[in-house]
Amino acid sequence: MTDVDCLFCRIVSGEIPSDAVAETATVYAFRDIVPKAPTHVLVVPKAHTPNVATAATDMPEVLGEMALVAQQVADQECGGQFRWIFNTGERAGQTVFHVHGHVIGGDHELGWSPA
Ligand code: AMP
Ligand code: ZN
Repeated sequence: MTDVDCLFCRIVSGEIPSDAVAETATVYAFRDIVPKAPTHVLVVPKAHTPNVATAATDMPEVLGEMALVAQQVADQECGGQFRWIFNTGERAGQTVFHVHGHVIGGDHELGWSPA
C-alpha cells in the first residue's frame, strides 16, 4: 500500500530522489537530507504505515527487518553502534507520518539531551 501524498512513499517509489544506503524486499534505507550526526540514515518500510505502533500491528516481520537493516547500516558506517529513534506524534517531533527509524551514529560517544 502506498499513499500518493506521503513523502516517504514517493521516495520509496523513486519519484523523489534519495541517497540509498541499503535495501531489502520490504525495507529501504536512505540518508537524512539534514543530517544531525556523521551517520544519519532513515530506515522505512516500503509499504505505508504511519508510526512504529501501527507497524508493529500491521507488519511485525517488516519491523524486525527494519531493525536488521539498521544494524547493517551501523556495521557499515559506525562500528555497529547506533541510536535508533522513532519520533511518534507531532509533539515528539514526527513530521513525516510514514514510520521511519533514525539510525544515528558516529565516531565519538553520542550526547543525550532528547527532551
Ligand atoms: P521526523 O521529524 O522524525 O518525522 O523525521 C523526518 C526526517 O526526514 C527529518 O530528519 C528530515 O530531515 C528528513 N527528510 C525530510 N525530507 C527528506 C528528503 N527528501 N530526503 C531525506 N530526508 C528527508
Ligand atoms: Zn508513506
